[in-house]
Amino acid sequence: MNHRIADRFWIRVCAAAAVAASLAFTDVTDAANATAVPGGVYAWPVPENSQNIRFQNRSVLVANSTALVGIPIKQPLGTATLTFLQHGQQRTHAFEVVDKRYTEQRITLKNQEMVTPNPEQLQRIRDESTRQRAIYARVSPSVDLSAGFTLPLRGRTTSLFGHRRFFNDQPRNPHSGLDIAAPTGTPVTAPGPATVALVDDLYYNGKTVFLDHGQGLITMYCHLSAQTVSTGDRVEQNQQIGLVGATGRVTGPHLHWSVSLNGYRIDPVTFRSKLADAVGLEPESIAR
Ligand SMILES: [Zn+2]
Repeated sequence: MNHRIADRFWIRVCAAAAVAASLAFTDVTDAANATAVPGGVYAWPVPENSQNIRFQNRSVLVANSTALVGIPIKQPLGTATLTFLQHGQQRTHAFEVVDKRYTEQRITLKNQEMVTPNPEQLQRIRDESTRQRAIYARVSPSVDLSAGFTLPLRGRTTSLFGHRRFFNDQPRNPHSGLDIAAPTGTPVTAPGPATVALVDDLYYNGKTVFLDHGQGLITMYCHLSAQTVSTGDRVEQNQQIGLVGATGRVTGPHLHWSVSLNGYRIDPVTFRSKLADAVGLEPESIAR
């Protein structure tokens, strides 16, 4: 029994049990499937007649009647809660966040300014963070995600999401995206339909493109040698948005790809497979 069938089966069982137990508005949690990891995605088949699903008071993406909830990498382990409206009643749904051991990565950078920026550079980095936070907070109208998410670049994966990183032995935030290496100039494409939210040049991330896929799903493409779209452009799935490069804090040409869901950076690999599952596709079958 695959997970989605198991989910549906469980919901039917729970619905019957809830009727038998009369109108107690307690939530029933599927212990086998109702789990997520920090930095992952919690997929929840939305009950009928439900709306306004929120996590930590941020609205959540729904694709094909499945809520896909971004879990922050710093989320404490244990019970987490979604809120939603059903038949006009405020309801909750609980799920468990379980541990995931992310590996460590040690990186040596020759350019010390990329490890310890000076005050002027720090101010630039702070200003850039403010701009990025505003983009990650956007919740635009939904777009068609029924074709899933394609890979923006074919290449060798050089760093996974979540690595606990040390630059020249100094601890830094966990790796917030997926690194794919390819020669400078290789085309980078949009994984799904989107509006270009921002084309920017950032201290650490270099030449960067942000895509807004609606409902709080934002993706970011960094270290490009060139951006080939402009802020406000509409792009289709697999349309070129830039070229691989080595701008910003890098040790060689690669794409850093981040996926942000309801304001939190999450594992792009997990998101692709959860979205494919939600819309009824095999991840391997998605073109490109
Ligand atoms: Zn990276």
